[in-house]
Amino acid sequence: MQYKTISAPVKKSVALVAHDNMKSALIQWCQDHQSALQQHTLFTTGTTGLHIEKNTQLSVNKLISGPLGGDQQIGALITEQKVDIMIFFWDPLEAQPHDPDVKALLRLAAVWNIPVACNRSTADLLVTSPLFSQSYQKTVPDYQQYLKERSE
Ligand code: PGA
Repeated sequence: MQYKTISAPVKKSVALVAHDNMKSALIQWCQDHQSALQQHTLFTTGTTGLHIEKNTQLSVNKLISGPLGGDQQIGALITEQKVDIMIFFWDPLEAQPHDPDVKALLRLAAVWNIPVACNRSTADLLVTSPLFSQSYQKTVPDYQQYLKERSE
């Protein structure tokens, strides 16, 4: 795979997702970092978004609920390079009915070099990084090159 360097934007798209047992932790994190998050465009799965709207002043773009396809929608946005950072508090102690979707989402985030926080400590480090509110250089798969190689 060939990679190319792109600039991550100053105003980023941040995906926020939490499994049910992790929602209170994500809400607390959103409350603690509301002013930093307000600078960016926020995407959430359905129920996570409802909880964030109810418990913070943040406005979010709600997709479908995770078990009904919301994780896949976020994965699609990552593939279209419309998500720059993902905060995904998945539940390490309880199996999910949509586990294949969870795995697929994490895989796409790895493919597209998306910074991902799966717990509070990593999320704290991400949100306090100077790069959270600056542009920075990152590599992503070079799809045009990929197509070219496959057509030869
Ligand atoms: P939810 O989905 O926000 O609709 O609960 C989260 C998930 O399970 O992926």
